[in-house]
Amino acid sequence: MNKKQVVTRFPPSPTGTLHIGGARTALFNWLFALHHNGKFVLRIEDTDRARSSKEAIDSIIESMKWLGLDWDEGPYFQSQRAEIYNEFIERLLSSKKAYYCNCSPDELERKRIEAKERGLKPKYDGKCRELGLGKSPDAVIRLKSPLSGTTRFKDLVKGVISIENEQLDDLILQRSDGSVTYHMAVVTDDIKSGITHVIRGDDHINNTPRQILIYNALGEPIPQYAHLPMILGPDKSPLSKRHGATSVLAYKEMGFLPHALVNSLARLGWAYGDQEKFTVQELIELFSLDHVGKSSGIFNMEKLLDLNAKYIREADDGNLAELLIPFLTNLGCSNLSREKVKGALRTLKARSKTLLEMAQGALFFFKEIDYEKQADERFLIPEVLEILKDLLLDLKGAPSFAQEQLENIFSIFLERHQIKLGKVAQPLRVALTGKTVSPGIFEIMEVMGQEMVIKRLSNAISHIKSKKGP
Ligand code: GLU
Repeated sequence: MNKKQVVTRFPPSPTGTLHIGGARTALFNWLFALHHNGKFVLRIEDTDRARSSKEAIDSIIESMKWLGLDWDEGPYFQSQRAEIYNEFIERLLSSKKAYYCNCSPDELERKRIEAKERGLKPKYDGKCRELGLGKSPDAVIRLKSPLSGTTRFKDLVKGVISIENEQLDDLILQRSDGSVTYHMAVVTDDIKSGITHVIRGDDHINNTPRQILIYNALGEPIPQYAHLPMILGPDKSPLSKRHGATSVLAYKEMGFLPHALVNSLARLGWAYGDQEKFTVQELIELFSLDHVGKSSGIFNMEKLLDLNAKYIREADDGNLAELLIPFLTNLGCSNLSREKVKGALRTLKARSKTLLEMAQGALFFFKEIDYEKQADERFLIPEVLEILKDLLLDLKGAPSFAQEQLENIFSIFLERHQIKLGKVAQPLRVALTGKTVSPGIFEIMEVMGQEMVIKRLSNAISHIKSKKGP
């Protein structure tokens, strides 16, 4: 049998930034297409001009690129496709599946109220259905929906869903100003792009029978549908700001690796046993709608943080450096050498949950330091002055700053002074980093290099001297 190529789509309405829920929908469509060697189409549903914005479009596209969800076609913009929609509406008019209706808004409103008063579902009464009206300035175009029968589809996640056609209205397809309505645009675009699978949030499930009626009227086959359960927070209430940031780019700014977020998104409603970590390749190979559950996915920020920490630990230093440099730059560092950034991040990889945390922890390598007050008061004290001065001499004479070399110098130095490393390590740490907590002292000295270490140690010595007074 000649199987059709799978084509999926992600059609965001650009009324705000891309949120976790939208990103999960995009990811599932992307994975499904790639799994089947198919195509993934990006379409911007910007027919609501008043609520759409260029900033939202840019931020959605930036979010998709950051997540690595590349598309094969598009982005198409609904606002630029009026001609195509008109062509499809023309098809419906000429096959008598749609008709002009010139009922005035006042009349419709009056009928709506009357129906409600009589306890009936407010629905267009079909007054113009058979009148054969032509185009006029105030006329809209409506779909001639079937008056009886059932519209049924098999959702790949939810199972069979059916609705009596009596319940469905003669939908407006085109407004009197000539603009097309939402359902007509979606169906036209999906047909034009050859969409085979519509994977979307279950908040759209009520739209589906209405859209199917349009497919039927056009004589086009309907795609397969998969409506994804909504996403909840750890307390089982719908995911919202209360549970942490909801916009994808906020996660970028907080220093998450895109792959950590992709991994967490993949697990929102989809599972493969208990496996928590997947490479992109594994996700593509393993993803299937059969493993999308009926129950809601839970988005857990704590888990995401742990996952991010794991990915940071495993990341290649060169790649991590590329990702870290913008964070360091944002924090005011300039003239960053990639090699030094790599050295710095090696000391911090095991202790950072996010790139932002890592950049903050690495600042002392790249920027002038201030001593933390308590660290200064406790460790940069006259009692250590002579020891630090002597250490400075040894360090000035060091032939290299490789860790083993430093360890040697220190063991001779400690032996000479008959002291333990603990005695000198904290004052030295404060002198070099301004803080009492940092990665290992030899590690950071190696990355800083001789010149910087000597400068900082000399500064600390002068600082202690100034405390002693003249
Ligand atoms: N534009 C819709 C939204 O952003 C999606 C419509 C669809 O998937 O059919 O929610």
